[in-house]
Amino acid sequence: MIIESSLDEVKRRESALKIIRSRVRSNGRTSIYDLTGLAGGFPLLDGDMALLETYAGPAVFEDEIQRLGREHLGGEKILALNRTSSGILAAILALVQDGDEIVHYLPKSPAHPSIPRSAELVGASYREFDDVNQFKVGEKTSLVFITGSTMDHQVVDETNFRKVVELAHEHGVPVFVDDASGARLRTVVYKQPRAMDMGADLAVTSTDKLMDGPRGGLMAGKEDIIDRVKSKALQFGLEAQPPIVVAMARALENFKPERIVEAFHTKDETYTALKEDIPSIMETPTGFMMKPEGFMAEMGAAGVETCLSKKDLAFVFAMLLLEKHSIITIPAVGMPGASATVRIDLASKDASRIERQKLIDAFKKTLHELKSIASDEGACRAVLGTSQDAQRKN
Ligand SMILES: *Cc1c(COP(=O)(O)O)cnc(C)c1O
Repeated sequence: MIIESSLDEVKRRESALKIIRSRVRSNGRTSIYDLTGLAGGFPLLDGDMALLETYAGPAVFEDEIQRLGREHLGGEKILALNRTSSGILAAILALVQDGDEIVHYLPKSPAHPSIPRSAELVGASYREFDDVNQFKVGEKTSLVFITGSTMDHQVVDETNFRKVVELAHEHGVPVFVDDASGARLRTVVYKQPRAMDMGADLAVTSTDKLMDGPRGGLMAGKEDIIDRVKSKALQFGLEAQPPIVVAMARALENFKPERIVEAFHTKDETYTALKEDIPSIMETPTGFMMKPEGFMAEMGAAGVETCLSKKDLAFVFAMLLLEKHSIITIPAVGMPGASATVRIDLASKDASRIERQKLIDAFKKTLHELKSIASDEGACRAVLGTSQDAQRKN
């Protein structure tokens, strides 16, 4: 195993950013392809900059984010946060006490790490279920989570969603929906209602997932609950600052579901072409992915022996894909604890600039290369930037 800690992941991320930085510096932004589906953006209008310098700005933006946020998510009141993770932490600080329990229903484990980590921080126990028939609300449960769409874009079933809301409310427990990508995937691709319209008490989405906004968390909820969460958010500095708030508002104004719909309808061709050669590849609503287990299976099928963990394989693959083909995926640039799944999102803005055949070839070649170095730990460490040598160079 090479990547063993959050610290190793920080190193890996720094190596990736270094490659990106040097590409962008020498050949411009168009020399790289961000296919993560969370490329973000900061679509300010001319007049916005001037307002950032006055006290009037935040007042104006607050009004706009309330209106646009409610349009996007439903609910009575909106709270803009620094990240989705910040919203999750703020809600847990506000609604969960030491000794309480948090239960979580999601279409497929694992949950985003911010949920169990925040539970631990307040001294709450945490249980998660991906089988709705096992899901239970206990005596001590003070908050129920539902994940609308997982980090790997597995989307919740609407019937199960409603069942969990009903169960929670029978026990008088509020429901918080982690709808980071789900607020768009669930509604645009699967035509599900907004979380707040299915009885949720709180919902949060990431304004850089499947839309071109800044990384930030947009939360909607019933007014009294939002007020409690907001109070905690302000105490601990978790709220979004005015420049982020205005960029979120502009991104919501610009949001068009067409790119998501088109990716959903056109992904099959690319996915099928890859599947012929790479049986472990899997479909997602707007693209395809390889899970860490998939890389391990491909090594096994090719008779490659390796001392790398399945996650290491995914990290090395993502770094090779970046280094050799300038394609950015989450395992290369993601934060510690983020999913190690290599997911290509064809709804990404940059996906329109890369030919499908080129993408297919890049993926196949990179897998081939991974096979050729997977048994050489030193070579893999060098790719990840975790070797002694690479660290000295930094
Ligand atoms: C991305 C994501 C988050 C966290 O978003 P951040 O911007 O990293 O805080 C939380 N939950 C799910 C399901 C996600 O996909």
